[in-house]
Amino acid sequence: MYKKIFIFTLIILLFSGCKKDINEDVNTVIEENKNIIVGINYPTTGYKKIDNLINKDIEIIYNNFKDEYESFSNLTTKSELNIDYTYNKLDNNIITITINIYINSSKLDTSINYIKTYNYDINKNKILTLNDIVDNDNIKKIPKIINTYLIKNYGEFININELNNIEYNYELFSIDNDYLYIYYNPSEITDNYDDIIEILIPLNKINLSFENNQKEKIKQNVPVNNVIDINKKVVALTFDDGPSKYTDELINVLKENDAVGTFFITGNKVEIYSDTLNKAIKNGNELGNHSYNHKWLTKVNNDELHNQITKTQDIIYETLNYTPTNFRPTYGSINNNMRNNINLNIVLWNVDTMDWKYKSVDKIVSRATKNTKDLDIILMHDTRKRTVDAVKKIIPVLKEQGFTFVTVRELQEIKKLRSNG
Ligand code: ZN
Repeated sequence: MYKKIFIFTLIILLFSGCKKDINEDVNTVIEENKNIIVGINYPTTGYKKIDNLINKDIEIIYNNFKDEYESFSNLTTKSELNIDYTYNKLDNNIITITINIYINSSKLDTSINYIKTYNYDINKNKILTLNDIVDNDNIKKIPKIINTYLIKNYGEFININELNNIEYNYELFSIDNDYLYIYYNPSEITDNYDDIIEILIPLNKINLSFENNQKEKIKQNVPVNNVIDINKKVVALTFDDGPSKYTDELINVLKENDAVGTFFITGNKVEIYSDTLNKAIKNGNELGNHSYNHKWLTKVNNDELHNQITKTQDIIYETLNYTPTNFRPTYGSINNNMRNNINLNIVLWNVDTMDWKYKSVDKIVSRATKNTKDLDIILMHDTRKRTVDAVKKIIPVLKEQGFTFVTVRELQEIKKLRSNG
């Protein structure tokens, strides 16, 4: 896919002012006289808008170089201009080109190295800026990703304390099927590093606004290994407001009893309890979205509503490589605005154990088991010890009544399968 052509091997040939097309795709300029050596390779895409832009830039660089160095004579070394490029055309008709410019100055006895990038949408006939392919919400995530990347990969050159003050521009970027690349030329970010800084952002960390096959490829950390007889009675245990210090034991209880549950979690606890949540996923339990910090969502504006949902989706994906499909409204409170603006299934319940209210384990068990029917969803909270103790009793009682335990997602699937059958 990548074409990277270096001209250095050809420079031994001596041409003067010779401009020659190697083929339709690559333009080459090779030139040598007593003061300078020029070796330029640049692409022609066949699309005027981007070709004109590249031609213009190359011409400027070439002319500036000649103006500055052609008449300057240094008896021992010649000044050099080298340009090469990478060219990538994505499946979705985006052309992405990086041009590398290298100048070795015999005047100053230094070299300069920088890049230019060009991204072009063939379908729209448009030169793309980063704002054209990454929406505002995702643009906001980029500085944090860059900072983390810089600390990890360029930490010895960059003063970490200063990173938070940098206002990043995204003028230089390119894309392939896996990454968004953001570049900074030397001294744009730090003077301590004299080469181009390249930051790789996996495409699954940011949603691109254009259609990208990558979206479908996002890995789901969802083991689907529960074998369920869809003709048997099923019930879904759900646990809100966690994870908490009781969640780990609850996961063990479910596993010992060959049961699964669905945890509607708040985003602010995901990182702290990532081990617990990974174990929950591994055991076949489901994670659902229950807002970021348990705000009362019918009482917030749409920006905050959006923020509460997406921040939670993002942190669950980034931390656990998992994407919830179900959402449970805080306080069970829901209105039409939420129905219209939340892009997840909204899941309430049929059986309320009132475990937040009743201190008696037996009372909770009784509420969970007395009138429970096929396809019911039971509401509990994994934030108290008594709920864990109640679950230890609830599972055998419901099994005795002929129930199989499923996640909410499985319950939704079973409903579909039964109605099709
Ligand atoms: Zn809640």
